[in-house]
Amino acid sequence: TIARREGDEWVINGHKHYTTNGSGWEGTGCHLFAVVCRTDPTKGAQDSLAIIMVPGNTPGINVEGFLEPAGHRASITPRIKFSNVRVPAANILGKPGDGVRMVQQNFAWTAALIGASCVGVMRAAFEYALDWAKRETKSGPHPIVDYSVIGYEFADMKMKIEACRYLSWKACQQFDLTGGSEQELAVMAKVYCSEVCVDVCYDAMKIVGVDSYMSSHPLMQLMTDSLCFPLYDGGNLGARRRQLHNIIKAADYDPLTAAYAQA
Ligand SMILES: Cc1cc2nc3c(=O)[nH]c(=O)nc-3n(C[C@H](O)[C@H](O)[C@H](O)COP(=O)(O)OP(=O)(O)OC[C@H]3O[C@@H](n4cnc5c(N)ncnc54)[C@H](O)[C@@H]3O)c2cc1C
Repeated sequence: TIARREGDEWVINGHKHYTTNGSGWEGTGCHLFAVVCRTDPTKGAQDSLAIIMVPGNTPGINVEGFLEPAGHRASITPRIKFSNVRVPAANILGKPGDGVRMVQQNFAWTAALIGASCVGVMRAAFEYALDWAKRETKSGPHPIVDYSVIGYEFADMKMKIEACRYLSWKACQQFDLTGGSEQELAVMAKVYCSEVCVDVCYDAMKIVGVDSYMSSHPLMQLMTDSLCFPLYDGGNLGARRRQLHNIIKAADYDPLTAAYAQA
C-alpha cells in the first residue's frame, strides 16, 4: 500500500488483507484506520514506512470481501482496497520511516497479550479434559484420571501452563516498566506460549480421545484457535524469531536486561 504526497494531501492506493475488524461489525467500515504504508516504493522501510490515520468514511475505501479463518471466529477478517484515498498531509504519525518503530512497539505489546491469550486457551483445554477424566470411567473400574499415564500427562500440561502464565505476566510487567523499550520477553512469550499452547490442546485431545476430534467438540475448537497463535501477529518461524535474533546479536545486548530492566 503506497501513500503518494500531492500538495497538502496523501493519496493512498493498495490492498490490505487480514485487517482484523477493519470492516466494523456492520461490514461498512470502521471509524478510523491506522494504515501502514510506504511513502516511496523505491526506498526501504527505514526511510519510507509510515502510519497514516484515515477516517473510515473517506471516499475510495472498499471492503472487498471477508476471509474465512478456521478459528478465531469472534473477529472479522476483511479484505480492503484503497483507491485514491485522500487525507490531509498532517494525518501522518511522525514522518516517513517512523512507521518501523511504531509497528515494532505495537507488535511487542500484542506479543505479550498473545502469551496471555494462549494461557487462557490452555486453561480451558486443561479444565475441560480434567473434568472429563474425573467423570468418565469408559466402562472400567476407575475414573480415567486415576490411571498414572493420564495423571502424569495432566501434571506436564499444568507445568507448561504455569510456566507460560508467569512468562506472560513478566513480559507485560517489563513492557509497562520500561515504557515498551524492553521487548525480548514479550516476543519470547508470543513464540513460546503459542507453540506450547498447540501442544497442550493436543495433550487434552489425546486424553479425551477420538470424540475430541469432532469439529463441534470444545477441544477441537480450542485446538483450531490455538493453531493461529504461532502463525499470526508475525509468524514464529520468520518474523518473531528474526526479532529475537536481532535483539540477541546486538552489540550492546545484556542477557539480564529482559529480566531486570527498569525505566
Ligand atoms: C486471524 C488473523 C488475523 C490477522 N489480523 C491481522 C491484522 O489485524 N493486521 C495485520 O497486519 N495482519 C493480520 N494478520 C496477518 C498476519 O499477522 C501476518 O500476515 C502473518 O503473521 C505473517 O506471517 P508469516 O511470517 O507466515 O508471513 P508470510 O508472508 O505468510 O510468510 C510465509 C512463509 O514465508 C516465510 N517468509 C516470508 N517472508 C520472508 C522473507 N523475506 N525471507 C525469508 N522467509 C520469508 C515466512 O517465514 C513463512 O514461513 C492476521 C492473520 C490472521 C490469521
